[in-house]
Order: sequence, then C-alpha cells, then structure tokens
Amino acid sequence: MNHTTERVTLARLPSGVEIETTVHTYDGAEDGPTVYVQAAQHGREINGTETLRRVHDHLTVGDADLAGRVVAVPVADPLTFDRVSYTTPEQLDSVNPNMNRVWPGDADGTLHERMAATLWEYVEEADAVLDLHTGSADMLTHVVFMEGHEESRALAEAFGTDLLLSEEAGDDADTEWAERDFGGKLRVAATREGIPTITPELAHNKQLVEDAIEAGVSGTLDAFRHLGLLAGEPTDVDPTLARNHLGRVTADESGLFHADPDREVGERVEPGERIGTLYDPTTYEVLQEVETDRGGILYSLTREATVTGGEKLLSVALVRES
Ligand SMILES: [Zn+2]
Repeated sequence: MNHTTERVTLARLPSGVEIETTVHTYDGAEDGPTVYVQAAQHGREINGTETLRRVHDHLTVGDADLAGRVVAVPVADPLTFDRVSYTTPEQLDSVNPNMNRVWPGDADGTLHERMAATLWEYVEEADAVLDLHTGSADMLTHVVFMEGHEESRALAEAFGTDLLLSEEAGDDADTEWAERDFGGKLRVAATREGIPTITPELAHNKQLVEDAIEAGVSGTLDAFRHLGLLAGEPTDVDPTLARNHLGRVTADESGLFHADPDREVGERVEPGERIGTLYDPTTYEVLQEVETDRGGILYSLTREATVTGGEKLLSVALVRES
C-alpha cells in the first residue's frame, strides 16, 4: 500500500489568498476499483473528517491489503469548515452559498463552482463515491441514494445503517426538489454519470461524537469490502428502506417548541400522532399542537426549541420496505 498526499488549490479568494485542501491517495498493491470519499463540504459536519482520519489509520497503520485506490478529501470545503457553517457568507459566494448545490462545478464559475470543479476531476475518475455528511443531534443516522439506481442502493446497504432513504431525482421528484437545486448535489451529479454514490448522514455536527464516528468508520470500511477494495464481507444488516420525501412538519408561528419527552428519532409513527407543543413564551398560549403529517419513521425532530415560523420541526420518512 502506497500513501501520498497532495495540496490542491481549489479556488482563489478576492485578496489573492488561495483556498487549498489536502487530497490523500492510497494505492493498493493489487488492482481494483477506485473510490472517492470526501467529508465536510458542509464545514460544520466534522464527524466525516474524523472518520477519514481513522480510516487513514486503518489503511496505513494496520496491515490492510488494499486492492485498488482510495482517494480521500477530509475537508472538501475549507470556507465553511473555518466558519463552522453550512454555507458561505454572501461576500464569498452570493450565488451559490451551498457547495452541495453546484456539482459538477464550473472552472469559470463562482467560488463554490470552481472548488467543486477542481474536486470533480477526482470524482469522475472513481468507480464509486462516498460523500460523508452529518445531520444534527436531532437526526437519525441514515444513508441516502438515488431512487432506482441499484448499484448505489447496494453500496448504501453495505454501509450498514439501520435506515436507508431513497431520493427521487429529476422529473420523478416533486417540484421542491428542483426549486432547491438538489440536482447539484454531488451524489446526484455523480450518480447521473453512472457512478454508484451514497450520502451517509452520520448525525451530530460541530461536535466529534463517538457513535457517529464509529458508524462512519465501520460503514466506510464495509463499503470498501463491498467494492472489493478490502477483503471480507460487509457486516450483515437488515435495514429499513424508506423514501426521502421532502415534506416535513413546520412551525405555524414563531415560538418555543416543546417535543413530548418520550419522543425519539427512529420510532414508527402513525399519521396525525401528537409529537409536541408550540407555544408563545410570553403568554403560554398554545400556537400549534404539533402532529405528524404521515405515517412512517420519525427520522428528525428538532431539539433547538426557539423556532421561527416556517422552520422544520420534524420529518417522517415513508417506509417502502423493511
Ligand atoms: Zn451536509
């Protein structure tokens, strides 16, 4: 196994300072597929970065026999990483503040488009792609893949989380999908090039949380086993497959949202089940009895209780197979 690193210039700031990141390449002694894996294109989603550090140790300190090549980028977006943020400030990219809406990028485009275009050169050489994200503490760990792409689904199953979400794309998706530029996600752009691609959502951001990291490491190594880069078989899991619908229950008004204390992500819910109360913190007036809008798996439930009107309170995934 041969490990090399390369400092890569992703783009240039107005001051002339270059935005750089490090690309790791691990070449196995034997031939095999090439996998591209990145973390922290949303810079506050740092558990993917720690995951890649431990995968690095597994590949270099251990005696892993690698067949093929792993290309790993632990900090895909240094701009948001430094700001512990999800998007960049307007001054840096007012057109595309979210890097995960611009893939495959544009070498002559906005800052994020240029950065994505630089990394895309590695992506398009790959036989499979893992784009490590993390949700929040309020979100159940899961893996997303494009509905109907069986190789991506198999890769998602190998990653081994209990919940898999398939997301419809393009004309199959509802209008919000296009309105929110979801076609510019790395996963969607790469899958459309025929590259099996998954988005693991590891839960928790801003903090390094052990169970999120362990899910990331075991999932990444199992994905490598599935692809034949590492010997052995992925751990056998029996995931629930659900649909990553874009609907959600939102706050009717601004106020404080109190989720009922017995509620947890991961539980099955029926349509119209009571989840919590939204109230006016000055008068205690109940503004909304918050209920599920459909049956399925409660996979996110906000715990940051001060909410503004329209903000997401919970999401329920529609179960397809279990
Ligand atoms: Zn993300």
